[in-house]
Amino acid sequence: MSNKSLFQKKAEKIAFNENHRKTIRFNMGKYYAAVNAGKARYNNLEATRTRTANIKRHTLENLAQYLQEFEETFTRNGGEVLWARTADDAVQFISRILQEHNVKSVVKSKSMTTEEIELNHELEKIGIESVETDLGEYIVQLAGEKPYHIVTPAMHKSKRDVAELFHNHFNFPLDSTAEEMTALAREKLREKYLAAGAGITGANFVIANKGAICVTENEGNAIMSTAFPPIHIAIAGIEKVIPSMQDLAVFWAHLAQHGTGQAISSYSSMFSAAKKEGESDGPKKMYVILLDNGRTNLYKNKTFNVALSCIRCGACLNACPIYKNIGGYTYNTTYQGPIGTVITPHLKNFADYVHLSSACSLCGACSSVCPQRIPLHELILENRKLAVQEKLSPEIERIGMKGFEFITAKGSRMDSVNGTVKNTAIALFAKNAWGKKRAMPRFATLSFRKLYKKNT
Ligand code: SF4
Repeated sequence: MSNKSLFQKKAEKIAFNENHRKTIRFNMGKYYAAVNAGKARYNNLEATRTRTANIKRHTLENLAQYLQEFEETFTRNGGEVLWARTADDAVQFISRILQEHNVKSVVKSKSMTTEEIELNHELEKIGIESVETDLGEYIVQLAGEKPYHIVTPAMHKSKRDVAELFHNHFNFPLDSTAEEMTALAREKLREKYLAAGAGITGANFVIANKGAICVTENEGNAIMSTAFPPIHIAIAGIEKVIPSMQDLAVFWAHLAQHGTGQAISSYSSMFSAAKKEGESDGPKKMYVILLDNGRTNLYKNKTFNVALSCIRCGACLNACPIYKNIGGYTYNTTYQGPIGTVITPHLKNFADYVHLSSACSLCGACSSVCPQRIPLHELILENRKLAVQEKLSPEIERIGMKGFEFITAKGSRMDSVNGTVKNTAIALFAKNAWGKKRAMPRFATLSFRKLYKKNT
């Protein structure tokens, strides 16, 4: 089945799932409350949006320079930078490092970049256990699922769902409280931290002038994943670089505000190298893998490269009426919602993912909340335009649209038949055009123009 057919099938089903809708509404409700309260902390949130958007635009204009600067500073600090053009390159680098150090298990903090390269799955293939340590990621890993949302991976799960999961895996009481379940996960994970031969993290930001990567989180699991094991591997998309520490100061709070509504995340760490001689804590060796994996395709495109300003806050997903109805899994992509819809066709095969752009009402809610001022809905429209130019829509659809264009171009053509004929045509040729569970709107017997003529 094609990606498009699969998407339509899944969307049709999940959009009418009351339980799913209830869980998402409940969890999103908590997000909106926190974010709205958080916005009140800012004197001028718009100025911050402009500033961070400008920092990212400037960085993108000088991307090669800042990436090279990072390589120099981080190498000077004693770390090693590896450049991965593809997901396969990144997996091979990580596998090689782990095998060289005879690592049998790793602990991982939350990282969408590692999801992008399907790292857990790839490590499993070579016999290395990879354990997610962020609670939401731990839950979806236990459930054999992927993250549902780029910030809150288990957003689709209710407390009851998690209790059932823990009951099935650990025989934990079904009536456990959230605190008890968290304590159990913490206990299970502690064993993993102690046994792991390496810790793997993503990077929210990469600081060019300091040679450091920055990780922001709320559970302390990224700190634990890097403090205990002797090896630290961080993997970051090339767009994560920012010029300096001054820039980081504004981004820390900005990301927390739009991601969770916090003034700042509970734990914000910078990792600039392995431990030095005489230091007691930290890994013996640290690597940073800079991942392209299609980003240069976006970068080269003058219309779309603004999407590389994304800081993965998830705000556009939470604002999107489509995401809220069809949920994260329907997209079948690492990055879902508006940002996923924009970038995935360019990161992967355009023809395989451009159908996502049709799942958009162009309401613009995503663009209005995006802290980086990315014009998401306009880019979605651009994707549609490219699909038309490349003739990616089915022949029947193109003929249909031509016919629609011809008929609706003139009122007299629209009025050439009455409402009964139009309704019969819809019933015969386009009955399920809006899905099987939605009725098509009905034409009035007389059009407005005819009614007007008749009554005046
Ligand atoms: S596109 Fe904007 S709103 Fe969406 S995740 Fe990225 S930064 Fe956040």
